[in-house]
Amino acid sequence: MQQALHRSSLVPRGFLVESACYEGDKAVITVRASGTDGLCPSCGTVSRRIHSRYQRRVTDLPLSGRVVELLVVARRFRCDAVRCGRQIFTERFDEMLAPSARRTARLDSIVHHLGLALGGRPAAGFAKRLHGVDENEEVVVRRQFRRAEMIRYFERIPPVLVAIESCGSSHHWGRLLQSFGHEVKLISPQYVKAYVKRGKNDAADAEALCESVTRPSMRFVPVKSKEQQAACMLMTVRERLVTVKYQLSNAFRSYAAEFGIVGPAGRQNVAALIKRVLEDDSLPEMARDLFRFQADEYAG
Ligand SMILES: [Zn+2]
Repeated sequence: MQQALHRSSLVPRGFLVESACYEGDKAVITVRASGTDGLCPSCGTVSRRIHSRYQRRVTDLPLSGRVVELLVVARRFRCDAVRCGRQIFTERFDEMLAPSARRTARLDSIVHHLGLALGGRPAAGFAKRLHGVDENEEVVVRRQFRRAEMIRYFERIPPVLVAIESCGSSHHWGRLLQSFGHEVKLISPQYVKAYVKRGKNDAADAEALCESVTRPSMRFVPVKSKEQQAACMLMTVRERLVTVKYQLSNAFRSYAAEFGIVGPAGRQNVAALIKRVLEDDSLPEMARDLFRFQADEYAG
């Protein structure tokens, strides 16, 4: 996406440039809205009565590889409507700039694909790392999110390709981001590892994910639906139950053998063995109680 250097595209539509300077490596452009009035968000009345001005700093599209920060001189207007409860309101910039955003909307729209590292503790509400590049693989997003912030971010940006390391909660996140219209690719940790350049932290992971997702040879794990997830759960729960039954019958058999009660091998013969043991009144009272306890466990 070639950015033409028209004066009009230097800053988002609807803004006027007042001045520009460099602050270290950063270009800082001071802008203000081109309109002369504001619309009260409570009652919709148009007002030209300026109460005061304040400044917002937001990041905009990079220019020749340089970070561009907009210093937005925003206005507060007075609402004169008699019935309106609001006396003062701040200027809105509509779709160019969300009310509390730190970045302009058009900066988010150039993100081509993203790597999202969910962090070591999937249940934790914080430490989601994002690494995003534009079409030329230039980094345009590198930041850390809390859970709620991340959800808001993905709700707001245009549909994009997101790479997530396949792990415990990645299918859940995958489904959520898909519901916002994004394309989600899950990548096995061992494939991601090959792209980690330095260190083992979430920032490096996010970068590696972002890089690996566009490789033609990369293989992806499909995002599971909730129904598929339930089917997987059924399998593992069932396996666990079978294992527990097996362990119980083995234990029962070996305890019974201690009292000289031995039955033929095989799962189909366990019930008969249990019956024999429970009916044997030559066993001490405590042993009979313990056998009964285990028999109940086996039946359950
Ligand atoms: Zn009003």
